[in-house]
Amino acid sequence: MKPLAILGSTGSVGENVLRVVRLHPERFSVKALAVHKNIEKLYEQAVEFRPQGVCIYDPPKAKEAAPRFKRIGIRVVTGDEGLQEVATLSGVREVICAMVGAAGLKPIFAAIHAKKTVAIANKEPLVMAGKLLLAAAAKAGVRVLPIDSEHSALWQCLEKQDPAFIKKLIITSSGGPFRARKGSLAKITPAQALNHPKWKMGPKITIDSATMMNKGLEVIEAANLFHVPAEKIDVLIHPEAIVHALVEFVDGSHFAHLGVTDMRLPIQYALSYPERLEDALPRLDLTRLQALHFEKPDRRRFPCLDLGYAASKIGGTMPTVLNAANEIAVAAFLAGRAGFLGIPKIIEKTMSAHRLVRQPSLADIFAADAWARETAEGLL
Ligand code: MG
Repeated sequence: MKPLAILGSTGSVGENVLRVVRLHPERFSVKALAVHKNIEKLYEQAVEFRPQGVCIYDPPKAKEAAPRFKRIGIRVVTGDEGLQEVATLSGVREVICAMVGAAGLKPIFAAIHAKKTVAIANKEPLVMAGKLLLAAAAKAGVRVLPIDSEHSALWQCLEKQDPAFIKKLIITSSGGPFRARKGSLAKITPAQALNHPKWKMGPKITIDSATMMNKGLEVIEAANLFHVPAEKIDVLIHPEAIVHALVEFVDGSHFAHLGVTDMRLPIQYALSYPERLEDALPRLDLTRLQALHFEKPDRRRFPCLDLGYAASKIGGTMPTVLNAANEIAVAAFLAGRAGFLGIPKIIEKTMSAHRLVRQPSLADIFAADAWARETAEGLL
C-alpha cells in the first residue's frame, strides 16, 4: 500500500489521480489532500477517501470549513505552512503535485527534503525551477516523476538508455482547436479557444493549447527534466494524439510511446512506477486507427512556441518570466481584457524588458515571477 498526498485534488488532474486510486484501492491510500478553496468538492473527497488531514490554502475558507471537517475527524491546515505540512506528512510515500500556479513550488521542495517521491503534473515547477528541483532531488536521493503525458512518454522511452546516444526528443501536439482554421486568429473568443478537440482540461492549459504555449512550456520542461538542450527537442503536430512522444537515437532508431488519450495512463504510471498495473484503463486498439499524421507546427501563426524555445535557450530566470507573463496574458484574454494575439505580444515585451539572473536561487525565481506579473499587468 502506497500512501499519497495529493496537492490540487479538486482540479482536473487531481480528480483523475483520485479516479486511479479508486481503481486500485489495494495499492494506494490517500493520506492528505490540498486544495485552493473548493471546499464542497474537497469535502466529498474527504468523506470518500478519509485522509488524515487536508489543506485549504485560502485562510478564510479554511477557517469556515474547519468545524465541518473536524466532525468527520479530519484536521484542516492552511496557507503555505499548511501546504508544507501535508507535503511532508510522515507515512506519505509519494506527493502528487497538481496545483495551478507558483504556489506549488515550495511544497515540492519541502517534500523532496523530506525524502518523498514527487510526481509533478503541473508545468510551473519544472518550467520555473526545474534545474534547482532536480538538483535537490538528486542530493536527497529521491525521484521526480513527470505526469505531463509527453514527458511521461519521454521518460518511458528513455528508461535504461544512455543519454549520450540521444539525437532528439520529439513531443507531439494535437494542434489545438485552430490547427486547420483558415484566416486570422485576431478575433478568436475565449469560448472558441476553450473548445479543445482532444483533451478535456482546465481553462488555463486549454488556452495554452490554443496558443501552443503549452508546447513552448513543455519544451522547457523536457529540457530541464532530461538535461537536453532545447535545440535537440522537436515539436510535431499529431492530430490523432496517440503517439505522445518519441526519442530519436544517434543511429536513427526511434522509440515512440503510444497510448489512448487519457490522463489516467501517465498518472497511473507515476503512481505505480516501477511496476505497471493491469487492465483498469481503456486500451488502444491499433486496428481501429485509420492513420497517424505528423506535420510541422506553423511557428509564424503560433509565436508562443518560439517564445518557449527562446526562454529555454536563454535560461536562468527567463522561463519563469515567460510563464508568469503568460499566466497574466491568458487570464486577461479569458476576462476579455486582451485579444488572442495579444497573448504572445505581452509575453514577448515582458521577456525583452527582463534583466536576467543566470544562476537563480529560489528567491531570485520568486522575485522574477513577481516582477513579470507586474510588468505584464502594466502592459495590458
Ligand atoms: Mg502535455
